Amino acid sequence: MPDNQINYSSYSTIPAYELMPSKSEIEKINRGKVFIPCEAGRGCSFNCAFCCSSSIWNRRVVFFNTDIILKQLDEIRARYGEITIYFTCDNLIYNHDLIDFLCKALKGRELKWQCRGRLDIDCDYEKLYNSGCEMIMVGIESAQSKTWKKIQKGRFPEDIIAKISDITNIGLGVTATYIVGFPFETRFDVSNTLLHAIRVSSNPNSDVSVHALTPLPKTAIYDSYQDIHFNNGTDLVRGLEFSDGLLPIDVSLIKSDANLFLGFYSFNCGIDNIISIAETATALCKTSIFTNALLEYCKFTIDVVFNLSEDSYEQEKLERKIITLIDTCDFLKNEEKIVLRELFEIESCLRGLKQLDFEKFGMPQQFHLARDAGFLVILCSYNFSKIFNSRLFSFSMNMYAGANSYAIIFNPSNKKYVLLKTGTSIENIVYSTYLLRK
Ligand code: SF4
Repeated sequence: MPDNQINYSSYSTIPAYELMPSKSEIEKINRGKVFIPCEAGRGCSFNCAFCCSSSIWNRRVVFFNTDIILKQLDEIRARYGEITIYFTCDNLIYNHDLIDFLCKALKGRELKWQCRGRLDIDCDYEKLYNSGCEMIMVGIESAQSKTWKKIQKGRFPEDIIAKISDITNIGLGVTATYIVGFPFETRFDVSNTLLHAIRVSSNPNSDVSVHALTPLPKTAIYDSYQDIHFNNGTDLVRGLEFSDGLLPIDVSLIKSDANLFLGFYSFNCGIDNIISIAETATALCKTSIFTNALLEYCKFTIDVVFNLSEDSYEQEKLERKIITLIDTCDFLKNEEKIVLRELFEIESCLRGLKQLDFEKFGMPQQFHLARDAGFLVILCSYNFSKIFNSRLFSFSMNMYAGANSYAIIFNPSNKKYVLLKTGTSIENIVYSTYLLRK
């Protein structure tokens, strides 16, 4: 190893956790959830054509020694208590010995944890789950096997959806990420990927995000396709603006050297608003019961995602377009429209996409108890329990009870909820809030 490189196997310095925000600050930013990063290794042995990891690490993977990982875990535990660890290593689940070690170490420390992985390797997911693993993040990228070949991702696992559902049935969460905007994919390919993403999002314990591809230097895709355009809304630069947008002087600098500022560019892929499509698809995957209802129950085609996307994504605009879409749907009965609108609103609130405006409801007195204890209370007109349990929308007039007949009490920190009749007793509410805390 050259002298100027760090030997991570004997490395002994841990991140300065004391410089990180406090637990309460993180809770505020993340709406109740605290993730703290822990380094277990760096580098990746794969060679995906859109990723610059291989040119940074030469496909080498280095793992930190177990002492330094334990030191981080203990420091995190002492500073933050019982929170969720996020292992930043790209190849953690390939190292079976390290996974064995961590599963034992984490079980004893009562820490929840999350990591990254790929679905094309063997892994004892049950062991992961039993040691406190909450979620594994996997890159599915595209639903096309021909795209997997082109992006050097390996062999497309045809049983991907079954595999994800096997994992989520154990109780382990899966965060699946997708990419649209490959310069060689057609609108049909993009539609297929979006449909795949929406299907995966209907699994319980799953979370899906769709990203628009950003060209990166020294990647095989950028070496082959240099047809790009300026786009300051890419995932890699979001949040960099210090005012409402980039200053003209910044834009002219970025445009003067595309290679240096590739993070502000997108590939020309024949679809104009690809970033907004990716963001709209991500939002729709978060409200997966509702979105699958649009496709299955209301028989919309996947074109609905393209039609709901504007030049730039805004959750409020999306909500307005969705409400218009439902209201102008001439084959839905009035009650069905109300229930679909409520379903969209409830899922958006439960998934943290929007804040509920409590003031617009005249909430029954006994529910103030739950609200004052920090739970979210959402009034609705339908008994959604069946829909939330099966994650499938099916309308029944018998389950429709009229405005504000039911209330959902939701605990944002562990995402548990209960559905109660609004005429319920205060004892029921006290008992429900006790269950929601467990
Ligand atoms: S995308 Fe992930 S698996 Fe592929 S090379 Fe990059 S880090 Fe490795």
